[in-house]
Amino acid sequence: MTFHPTKTPTILNVDDNDGARYAKTRILQSAGFEVIEAANGTDALEIVHEQHPTLVLLDVKLPDINGIEVCRRIKANPDSSMVLVLQTSAALTGRADKIRGLEGGADNYLAAPIEADELIANVNALVRMRQTQVELRDSEERFRQITDNIDDVFWMFSVPDGALVYVSPAYPALWGRSVEALRGRPASWLDAVHPDDRLRMGQRWEQLALMPHYDEEFRLSGTDGKTRWVRDRLFPVRGQRGDVYRVARVTSDITARKEMEALLRTADRNKNQFLATLAHELRNPLSPIRNAAALLGTEGDSSGERQARAREVITRQVDHLAHLVDDLLDVARISEGKIVLRRDDVNLGTVVNQAIETAGPLITARRHRLAVKLPEQEVWVSGDPVRLAQSIGNLLHNAAKFTPQGGDITISASLRGEHHVRISVHDTGIGIAEDNLPRIFGMFAQVDVPPDRAPEGLGIGLSLVSHLLELHGGRLMAESPGIGMGSTFTVELPLLRVASIAPTMECHPAADSGGSGMRVLLVDDNIDAMEMMGFLLAEMGYETCTTSDASQIEGLALHHRPQVIVLDIGLPGIDGYEVARRIKQNPALSGIRLVAHTGYGSPEDRKRALEAGFDAHLVKPAELDDLERALKG
Ligand code: ADP
Repeated sequence: MTFHPTKTPTILNVDDNDGARYAKTRILQSAGFEVIEAANGTDALEIVHEQHPTLVLLDVKLPDINGIEVCRRIKANPDSSMVLVLQTSAALTGRADKIRGLEGGADNYLAAPIEADELIANVNALVRMRQTQVELRDSEERFRQITDNIDDVFWMFSVPDGALVYVSPAYPALWGRSVEALRGRPASWLDAVHPDDRLRMGQRWEQLALMPHYDEEFRLSGTDGKTRWVRDRLFPVRGQRGDVYRVARVTSDITARKEMEALLRTADRNKNQFLATLAHELRNPLSPIRNAAALLGTEGDSSGERQARAREVITRQVDHLAHLVDDLLDVARISEGKIVLRRDDVNLGTVVNQAIETAGPLITARRHRLAVKLPEQEVWVSGDPVRLAQSIGNLLHNAAKFTPQGGDITISASLRGEHHVRISVHDTGIGIAEDNLPRIFGMFAQVDVPPDRAPEGLGIGLSLVSHLLELHGGRLMAESPGIGMGSTFTVELPLLRVASIAPTMECHPAADSGGSGMRVLLVDDNIDAMEMMGFLLAEMGYETCTTSDASQIEGLALHHRPQVIVLDIGLPGIDGYEVARRIKQNPALSGIRLVAHTGYGSPEDRKRALEAGFDAHLVKPAELDDLERALKG
């Protein structure tokens, strides 16, 4: 039942004697109460049930149910137990009657003769008492709702003995210990405090009477092995004389805030480190550019050559700067969601080739060996060819950068089920510690610099690659058995289709073992001559492939992996010397022996061929012996 102290109290006046009932009604109404009447117990119970009067003025003697029984039923029903009952009796006026009435649950008992002022004073006293009770109950209810429903722990201890007066139900969840254990030994809350904080908090509590207030932060060691941070506040509670006789305490879980603070600190440290690296990276190219600019102004014998070198340096360094700025812009575009892929059907072999071209100079400069392993078929994916080549180029560049000179780098692609293709870049370099593996994809993340390289890069490459691959519906994974044990970065992309390699190349298996399984690629536009030579070489034990399409020579060589390429220099529309140069500059192909087979036989032609990178020079038509010697080197 709800009690409305502001409403005029309603009194149910129950008496079977019409005259007496009327008199009491008049008295109560004159005192400002609203009055309802009932002449028997059954009606009285029904009205109580329906109208919830504030007080029932209940005569003991009723025609149907005895007034004491009516009172008992009112009090026994939870719905009406808060209704006040003032029992009255005209006849049963003895002490024993009064006691029986009160024991039946009545809030008071008045025996005749009942004077008007006595009746009103009694009703007022009971209404006041009920009002106080209800206010108290409401206030306790509100307190309970707060303390029961908030994750913070509310406590109250008496001072100075430290006895526990109250603890809210959040205690077990935050402390990982039972309320019973705490009640058994109130100081046991300290047991869960992290050993490094326990002494400090213990000392604080020893000074409870002297300093009954604090605002502290400390750690709790959970039984689950996790550490939680809490903020613990203590407030003095003063008695009427102003003395502190209790302390109120609120403990809140601030683990999330602490973790956020740690993240912010790391982000801030990373930002500062990034700015320092950025300054370093931007400044690095400036000094060679300044020196080169100075060289441009010099005169003298070798000034022409020097100026050419200076121009080269400036171009290279400006390219490097432009690359840095491009990366930075890409990062900004990605974080604003503004990168748009120019999608197309992309041949993975072409992408891998472009990536090798980009990273080639560093791989060569650091004297790494590069192995390329591509599937037999052509693998097609849907994506932005420039972004895909940039991503794989970045991984190759890292492999070259983080591998001490003369290492081995392998790039391989393989189908993964029916729907995916994986491209792995493996190196034999400095490797990555297990702890650092999850970090390196983060923005501005860098691990220690290997001893043989200066700090270089902004730590945004991998983050960029992994975002670009996500945009392609793919992902980037990193593995390393540990420091010094190399790394493998694997790109997984959704597969578009596979196709068998276009038959621009024809192959003949070796007919005997004379060529010791050597693979030879013949490139010539004179198909008849080439076919004849192909058959001959196959007969001699060489596995021989032929093509007249020199424009695809690099792609074919990547798939076929020949040990020797025999190339006609004078091919229509293509410069054989240029092809030779490209092959020799491609770290994946530079190990292949190049034999020029040409109609140009002058010493100058021979010299030019060797300068372009050919390992041997044969004049058409070559004798078989010469050819075999040239193949074997
Ligand atoms: P950056 O190369 O500019 O430092 P990246 O995002 O490309 O930035 O790489 C982040 C970090 O990951 C590098 O600083 C390096 O510590 C580590 N890392 C990347 N690739 C390799 C690799 N192939 N071998 C070892 N560590 C690598």
